Amino acid sequence: MALKKQTKNSPSLFKLPTSFEMGCRTYKVNVIGDLTKRGEAVGMHHFHAAEIDIDGKIDNDELLMLTFYHEIFHALFESQGREDLSSNEALVDTSATLLCQMMKTAKYHEKS
Ligand SMILES: [Zn+2]
Repeated sequence: MALKKQTKNSPSLFKLPTSFEMGCRTYKVNVIGDLTKRGEAVGMHHFHAAEIDIDGKIDNDELLMLTFYHEIFHALFESQGREDLSSNEALVDTSATLLCQMMKTAKYHEKS
């Protein structure tokens, strides 16, 4: 997966994790060569397997971040037993978009 180098114009370099903890579970993040060729979306969330699949052909940091956060919100809602919220794609997508915007525009203290 090609990730752009951090520049002044893109200060929030996104780094895709390989795993993370949510609730009592360890989620694995799989980068799948060409997920869309399987007829699937660019990202998939598998609650029972505790896995998130991300299309390895994504070569745009913003789309990668948005796709990952989208799948994270599915995991967040399902981890709380709120399948009703997880199945609401508009809510999931809006939540991911807002988090993506926040992360892209966040300002940090300069290292000294
Ligand atoms: Zn979705």
